[in-house]
Amino acid sequence: MNTVPNEGGVLGPAAREASIARLRATSEPGNELDILIVGGGIVGAGAALDAVTRGLSVGIVEASDWAAGTSSRSSKLIHGGLRYLEMLDFGLVKEALHERGLILSVLAPHLARPVPFLYPLTKPFLERPYVGAGIALYDAMSITGGHSRGVPFHKHLTRRGTLRAAPSLKKDAFVGSIRYYDGQVDDAKYVANLVRTGVHYGAHAVNQMAVVDFLREGERVVGAKVVNHEDGSQFNIKAKQVINATGVWTDETQAMVTERGQLKVRASKGIHLVVPRDRFQSTVGLILRTEKSVLFVIPWAGTGSLARRTPTGISTRPTLRPPARTSTTSWSTSTGS
Ligand SMILES: Cc1cc2nc3c(=O)[nH]c(=O)nc-3n(C[C@H](O)[C@H](O)[C@H](O)COP(=O)(O)OP(=O)(O)OC[C@H]3O[C@@H](n4cnc5c(N)ncnc54)[C@H](O)[C@@H]3O)c2cc1C
Repeated sequence: MNTVPNEGGVLGPAAREASIARLRATSEPGNELDILIVGGGIVGAGAALDAVTRGLSVGIVEASDWAAGTSSRSSKLIHGGLRYLEMLDFGLVKEALHERGLILSVLAPHLARPVPFLYPLTKPFLERPYVGAGIALYDAMSITGGHSRGVPFHKHLTRRGTLRAAPSLKKDAFVGSIRYYDGQVDDAKYVANLVRTGVHYGAHAVNQMAVVDFLREGERVVGAKVVNHEDGSQFNIKAKQVINATGVWTDETQAMVTERGQLKVRASKGIHLVVPRDRFQSTVGLILRTEKSVLFVIPWAGTGSLARRTPTGISTRPTLRPPARTSTTSWSTSTGS
């Protein structure tokens, strides 16, 4: 099936109808897609763009809206993972820092920016050289040939310098700090941009369209049955390969094909609290150790700070369209799915 580029990657109603017509036509003999991707989060959108720019014919369907799942509920950080360095996972950190530099300086400088974090030091002597060496290594590992690191280098701060950067900190709670940088991105816009770029190169992208079953020939999956949430209609999409990119819903998607799913995805949740900026005066974010994990305080959207605890495992999965929840006070909370 030939791909027909959509100049500019428009995602309006007319483009959606045109994509549906193309996907319906895949049932005609010899007209199947090379690849059908199920799920329009960062993984599905990235896979669609990768595949279509390799010259493959690609369809991507999303049950709700683009990035409606975990990919719009993250902590919006593009980080190399300072704490993975402490776990000695050098390969992972190196790769993540490389991608961080690419996003910040080449791929999406319009959506991403460097964000400063303080690592407060609480002990007078040994902590500074230990943490300082780790952060220096973190900075050094982000140096790659070919493109910019995208963020400034770290700096050691005295107690006074720390207070200047974050006046709301309790004076006697730390002896100094180290300021380092990571990246911040608008995660939902980033996914939407990836989908649009994929569509620009010829991918057929349809949101509000859920896979409800898979088509099989013997043991092989040869497509999917979808329902169009806009009008309730159902039809089949045929494809040589189907990619399951349904994130935390992977188990449910696999269960449509076989009882013995090959991948087990453990759901985890994190908690974000949005705090008005005037309640916590700081020009920087913070990374803090808690008894069991790490707490981030992240400057967010010019209006507030996002406080986030590291994700923990949960035994239930979110509904496909989680309702928005807002508390009655000036705090709003969101649970990362
Ligand atoms: C609290 C928290 C904070 C995080 N913070 C960060 C961070 O700061 N930086 C970072 O890089 N990562 C972060 N992550 C991780 C990151 O958010 C996830 O790894 C990523 O969003 C997963 O993307 P995905 O595409 O796999 O899943 P999702 O974004 O969940 O996409 C799956 C999509 O599949 C769709 N779908 C499901 N079933 C069907 C069906 N039957 N038919 C069609 N579509 C279907 C869903 O609607 C959904 O849109 C965080 C994660 C959590 C939990």
